[in-house]
Parts: sequence; structure tokens; C-alpha cells
Amino acid sequence: MSRVALVTGGTRGIGEAICTALHDAGYKVIANYCGNDEAAQAFTKKTSIPSLKFDVSDHEATQEAINHIESDYGPIDILVNNAGITRDGTMHRMDFEQWNAVIQTNLGSCFNTSRCVIEGMRSRGFGRIVNVGSINGQAGQYGQVNYAAAKSGIHGFTKALAQEGAGKGITVNAIAPGYVDTEMVRAVPEEVLQKIIARIPVGRLGKPEDIARTVLFLVDDNAAFITGSTLSVNGGQHMY
Ligand code: NDP
Repeated sequence: MSRVALVTGGTRGIGEAICTALHDAGYKVIANYCGNDEAAQAFTKKTSIPSLKFDVSDHEATQEAINHIESDYGPIDILVNNAGITRDGTMHRMDFEQWNAVIQTNLGSCFNTSRCVIEGMRSRGFGRIVNVGSINGQAGQYGQVNYAAAKSGIHGFTKALAQEGAGKGITVNAIAPGYVDTEMVRAVPEEVLQKIIARIPVGRLGKPEDIARTVLFLVDDNAAFITGSTLSVNGGQHMY
């Protein structure tokens, strides 16, 4: 039996690597995205993984899309909450839209997707949920009160849901990536990026595949004893 996996924000960056790793390992993968049709079409052409457009910050749209996925592909056993955005700015300049967009997309989405799949996972006695947090949710980051709050919220969400799922065969874990070479990080000015790399003991940015490998490990049927964890994948930049 090949398990069905939904990866949010799966058509670019870290999500693309996660989808590819799961697909190569034999899972039936569906990639979600929100706005970039061109990237999604190129992704599906390259990988033959279906991509489905819906906004994970929209509760009803997510519910509708997940119902659709489950009727087309079967019940979702693996959910990877990876979609995320940044809308940086210091607090005295940040407006409500920047705050709310990041909270709803990065954290609200975890409720929206998990709420739709959790009952099925409970009744089948199996589920794997992996939430993509961030080093900046662990350590905070100047100019990112919205992002740090959302990612820190993901880490709390993970531990609470892990407790609820533990007796039902459902594991819930988070990954806290450090700086990974994707478009999100390429938006950081070059001189700032060089300073960031200088603080990474391994001496380089992460690769999307570094994160994908961790997801693959956590969703395995045999990873049943790992739940409520946050795995830091950051080249040694932040250890705690
Ligand atoms: P990218 O910006 O490269 O890709 C983001 C993906 O999320 C895209 O597929 C995008 O879709 C999708 N997405 C954005 N908003 C929505 C939405 N509302 N609904 C559905 N999909 C959406 O990001 P990364 O690959 O860099 O990041 C992936 C995750 O890893 C994020 O949660 C990020 O916060 C986290 N992370 C990244 C780090 C990094 O250094 N890159 C470090 C730590 C954490 P579309 O293509 O349509 O825009």
C-alpha cells in the first residue's frame, strides 16, 4: 500500500524537495501551492506529482480541497505543513496586514489542514504530521515578530497535538530549519547573507534536500516512537 501524502507549499523550494523525496520513496504525493502557477506547472511536468492550488490560510478553501484530494487519491496519512511566507518589518513599521498574513499563512494553516485530516487519522489509527517551523521561531529574529511568533506557535501546536495523537497511532513533529538556499532566503541582501553564513558552523546554507531527508525519516511507519519533537536542521547555528 502506498500512503497518500499532502505537502503544502510543495511546488518550490523546500516543499519541492520534500515532495520529490517522498515520491522517490514510493509515497503517493500531492503538492499544494497558492499563486505561482508557472512554478507549479513546471514542477508537475518535471516530477509528475500532481499540484493543487488552494490558499492554506483560508479554512473553507482548505477543507474543500482536502475533501477533493481524499476522494481522488484516498485518505491522507501524511501531512507536511510546509507552506510559509515572510512579510518582514520592525514592529514600529509593521502593519496589521503583514502581521495577519504571516500568522494566518504560517500558523493558521496548520489548524486548517490538520483539522481536516485528524479525524480520519484517528479512525484509521495511523497518521504522520510534520510541521515546518524555523530557527527564528526558536531564537527570535530582528524584524520578524510576525514570523517568529507564527513559527514559535508551530512548535507549541506540535507538542499539544502530539499528546492528543499519541494513543491513536498519530505522530506530530516539527522541523526547525536554519537558513536554507531557496527563494525566501535569496531575498535577503547579499551582505546580510554573508554575515549569516559566517555564523553557521557547518559553513554553508542548508539545501532543501537536508530538510527533505528529515521529513522522510519522521514520516516512516517505523518512526512511531518519535512524537512531539522539534528537530533542528541548521548546520549547528542554534543549539538548545
Ligand atoms: P518558498 O518561498 O521557496 O516556497 C514557499 C511555498 O509555499 C511555495 O510553494 C508557495 O506557493 C507556498 N505558499 C505560500 N503561501 C501559501 C498559501 N497561502 N497557501 C498555499 N501555499 C502557499 O519557501 P521555502 O521553501 O524557503 O520555505 C518553506 C518553509 O520552510 C516555510 O514554512 C518557511 O517558513 C520554512 N523555512 C524556510 C527557511 C529558509 O531558509 N528557506 C528557514 C526556516 C524555515 P507559490 O509557489 O504558489 O507561491
